[in-house]
This record gives sequence, C-alpha cells and structure tokens, in this order.
Amino acid sequence: MIGAGVSGLGFASWWRELHPDERVVVLEADAEPGGYCRTIERAGFVWDYSGHFFHFKDPAIEAWLRARMPGQDVRTVTRVAKIRYAGIDIDFPFQTHIHQLPKDEFIECLVELFARPTGEPRSFGEMLYQRLGKGITEKFLRPYNEKLYATSLDQLDVDAMGRFFPHADVADIVANMRPGVRAHGYNATFTYPAGGAVQYIHALLRDLPPGTVACGEPATGVDLSARTVATPARTIHYRRAVVSSAPLPRLARMAGLPHDASVFTSNQVLVFNLGFDAKGPRDVHWMYFPDPATVFYRVGWYDNILGADRMSLYVEIGAATGARVDVEQLRARVLADLVREGIVTDQRLVADHHVVLDPAYVHITRASLAETARVKAALAAADVHSVGRYGGWTYCSIEDNLLETRALARSL
Ligand SMILES: Cc1cc2nc3c(=O)[nH]c(=O)nc-3n(C[C@H](O)[C@H](O)[C@H](O)COP(=O)(O)OP(=O)(O)OC[C@H]3O[C@@H](n4cnc5c(N)ncnc54)[C@H](O)[C@@H]3O)c2cc1C
Repeated sequence: MIGAGVSGLGFASWWRELHPDERVVVLEADAEPGGYCRTIERAGFVWDYSGHFFHFKDPAIEAWLRARMPGQDVRTVTRVAKIRYAGIDIDFPFQTHIHQLPKDEFIECLVELFARPTGEPRSFGEMLYQRLGKGITEKFLRPYNEKLYATSLDQLDVDAMGRFFPHADVADIVANMRPGVRAHGYNATFTYPAGGAVQYIHALLRDLPPGTVACGEPATGVDLSARTVATPARTIHYRRAVVSSAPLPRLARMAGLPHDASVFTSNQVLVFNLGFDAKGPRDVHWMYFPDPATVFYRVGWYDNILGADRMSLYVEIGAATGARVDVEQLRARVLADLVREGIVTDQRLVADHHVVLDPAYVHITRASLAETARVKAALAAADVHSVGRYGGWTYCSIEDNLLETRALARSL
C-alpha cells in the first residue's frame, strides 16, 4: 500500500479483516499517518488540516468506524451554513434561498430562472446557466466556484462536483419559498469527533498490527515487470498487488508509465486555523464568501460546532496550482478581511496554524476523466490499483474512500 491516509489505512483494515494472516505494508512519505485527515492541537484549540465534517450515507460504514472509537465524543450537529452576499447573510444553498435576497435581486433571479437557456451543457459553467439561470449563477455559483477552483468553470466537466453539487429544480426552489420549509442541499446534519478528524485515522489504525505503517518512507519507484516497489531504504517484492493513494500522475511517473501529465490540473488550498481569546458570531458553522474582493472563499467556526467559549476558525483560500502562496501577506489580508466582514471585532488572536493542501480540488475535465480511466486500467493490468481522492483524481469524501477500498479488498 502506498499512502497512509483514509484510503491506505482503509484498504489495510479491510484487507486484514478478510485475510488476517497476510502481511500488508503501508508506506507513508510523511512523518505521520492521516494524509489530509489530520488534526493539530494548539493552545487548547483543535483544528483539522481544513474543515472536515462527515456525512455518512451508509450507516454500516459509520458504525464500523464508530466501533473502533470507544470513548470518543462524536457529535451530530444540525448544519447552519450561510452565504455572505453583498453584506447580507442568506442560507445555503443559495439557489433555494433566493427569496432571502433584496426584492429586486430576488425577482431578477426568478425571472432568469424561468428564462434560462436550454440545450445540452458542455461544461460545468454552462450547466450552471442552463440549470439555474443567469441571476443565481452570476450572483453566487460562478464567483464562488471560480474562487474555489481557481480556474474557468468552462474548463470543467459538467459533472465536476458530482453529488456534492446541490442541484435544485424550479419546483424545489419555489417550494422552499413557503415559510417553515427549509431545503438543506446535500445534507442537513453532519458528525464530527470532538478530538478532530484524526480520530477516524486512529480508528483505522486500531486493528493494524504494529509495524504495518512505515512513516517517513516514500515509495520512489514501482517496477511493473519485476513486481517491486522501491523506497530509499529497501526494495519490496509484492506478491498480490500494490494499492496506491498517491496522486495518479505521480504514481504513473513512478511506474514509468507514459501519460499526459498536462490534463491533471487542480487547485491548491491554503488553510489558516485561527484561535481567538473570545467568542465571535454564534449562529453559524460555516459561511461562503463569493465576493472576489474578500480573499477567502469559506470560513468555519469550530467553536460553534463544539460549543467552545473562544472563537476557533478555519479560513480557506483557493489558488491555482503552481501559484506562489505568500503566507505572511495572505495572513495579514485574512485578518483584515475578517475585521471588514465583522467576524473579528475586539477579539485577540492567541494561536494560529496554516497548511497548504496541494492538490486540493482536482479539475475534473473530459480530458482528465479519459486519461484517469486509461492510466488506471493500464496500471491495474499489472496489479497496481490507484485509489482515493488523488489516486482516482476525483471529488469525494472519506466515506467514499472507505467504500472504494472495501470493494477493492473484496474484489482482490
Ligand atoms: C479542503 C478539503 C476539505 C475536505 N472536506 C471533507 C469533509 O468535510 N468530509 C469528508 O468526508 N472529506 C473531506 N475532504 C476529502 C478528504 O480529505 C479525502 O477524501 C481524504 O482525506 C482522502 O484520503 P486519501 O487517503 O485518498 O488521500 P490523502 O489524504 O491525500 O492520503 C494520501 C497519502 O499518500 C501519501 N503519499 C503520497 N505519495 C506517496 C509516496 N510516493 N509514497 C508514500 N506515501 C505517499 C501522502 O503523504 C498521504 O498521506 C476534503 C478535502 C479537502 C481538500
């Protein structure tokens, strides 16, 4: 196994359940396991690598994890997500709450919704106009997603966000205008362990024999004909298969497999975790910021999720991959924009942390879908299986990673 994130540890756990006598080696380049599902504790604050909240569709997967988390305080929270639009806060998703806009803008969105263009969309950008009309698209969906993805939405595949895009048809939008009706988008509740997302990683590590995970030992080469994986310390001969959660273009390079690296583009996300000495806004778990003048696209309040008495924020900024990220300059901008948005008033910053996730959101395009399928199939023919968010070059949740690796373990 290459990579000790959710996918790698998930696969190792499923495999051990099926084949307790077989050895699995999990190579991890980093000094610690967890991948993007990691938690930092500082000055009494608990922060993830970025806002990680969990919506399990399959109760069996959640129960399987929870059985490995005895004594953990896992909260179930009814989501309060907002959008800061032109100085007012409206409920998320935008498209089903246009009636909360000022009357002229509400009418504009409604008229454009009924006059939306028809046809078969060729891109994510076109899909937005054709499904929801110009008003909703240009006020929120387009500026927000351009900020997040740091690319033109016309480059992205129609289905670039899969089930994570909160689709709504005209009937849903109109029905939601009645008082007392609330459409939640993709999920009304989420779960979160009070000890942070890394508790799920601890759950996955629980059943693995000591020595299974080799941290600080990157895979540097995969020889498909000799059936070996090289690391700086050793050469491992694999009997059955290699399962890798490293980014697919990196794996293809390691295996010497010809591929078109230019189709694998993505954004990077800079996350600032910020701890303050006093509470801030109370009735919100996270908020989206479509305005290009505000540096961040999303801010979340851990303190409101966990019921803590000091404001504990994560702040996310999207940038194109390869763009230089000037952390000091961006931290100063973040703090200034938090004040301008009225989130920070007289609270004092007492602790902070930052991390760059690169890649973070991959750009799912027609070309990336085709090349991903081709490269994965070529590797699988040599018993090398590329899985996970970056191994599959896709948009997914940790639950998807567990479902995928369970299916793979069963099929192998
Ligand atoms: C901003 C953001 C927010 C998210 N929010 C949520 C959320 O709220 N809920 C949710 O369910 N999911 C969320 N996700 C998705 C979730 O983080 C991923 O689905 C999950 O962490 C992916 O796990 P993985 O093991 O596939 O990949 P990774 O976490 O990337 O793990 C891959 C591992 O492989 C290692 N590796 C890479 N190359 C090598 C090598 N050559 N040799 C050895 N090791 C190597 C890496 O160091 C890493 O540890 C979010 C993702 C992002 C980016």
